[in-house]
Amino acid sequence: MSRTIGLIGGMSWESTATYYRAINELVRDRQGGLASADILMQSVNFEEIVALQKAGDWDGAADRLGTIGANLASIGAGCILICTNTMHLVADQVAALAGVPLIHIVDATGAALKKAGAKRPLLLATRYTMEEGFYLRRLKECAGIEALVPEIRDRDLVHTIIFDELCKGIVNDRSRDEYLRIIQRGAERGADSVILGCTEIGLLINQSHSPLPTFDSTLIHATAAVDFAEAAERAVRNAA
Ligand code: GLU
Repeated sequence: MSRTIGLIGGMSWESTATYYRAINELVRDRQGGLASADILMQSVNFEEIVALQKAGDWDGAADRLGTIGANLASIGAGCILICTNTMHLVADQVAALAGVPLIHIVDATGAALKKAGAKRPLLLATRYTMEEGFYLRRLKECAGIEALVPEIRDRDLVHTIIFDELCKGIVNDRSRDEYLRIIQRGAERGADSVILGCTEIGLLINQSHSPLPTFDSTLIHATAAVDFAEAAERAVRNAA
């Protein structure tokens, strides 16, 4: 059992940078000294993945990401993370090709919501994640939680800001105000919390901005990876 964390990154690289920093900071904080994480990463050209998304070629995307997962496993990754919520649409295929545990972002987020007692989160994410069903279904199955999504025009706005701004590293006050308005609207419709269900949203919004408790999928996913790596290391030590 390897403690090496395999990251499938680049979707976008702006959030993969957050993963890299968050994982290493967690390891340093937990272990002290100069400790840092064992990581293997392959980062894709996001333009190519977006083309597959737009064409609805999810099998092509699954193949591409699954091949990367298998590569990472073959050179020592003990687990795989797909560093985007959207591409969890093909998580099952990627896991099957990789052949090592895939740390699922929805399971990790669901566990965090449950632990905090959140019952009706508002999901902010790409249109694929909010509308394709895979995310809401899995959240219900793994945590028994039914999330709300914004109304159609607001979903379009959330999606556009992700691709036209956040994935390009553009952080805009006006867009933050729009997100806060959408969160407020969610609260009026009964939301008790908000899932930052796209790995770039943490660039724009954090707990200090939001009127509702926030659950940042990037940080939650990174924490699950470190938990996995530590458990793997303990297992190896106990077996020795
Ligand atoms: N990083 C984003 C997410 O978490 C969007 C990029 C993508 O479409 O993969 O969904």
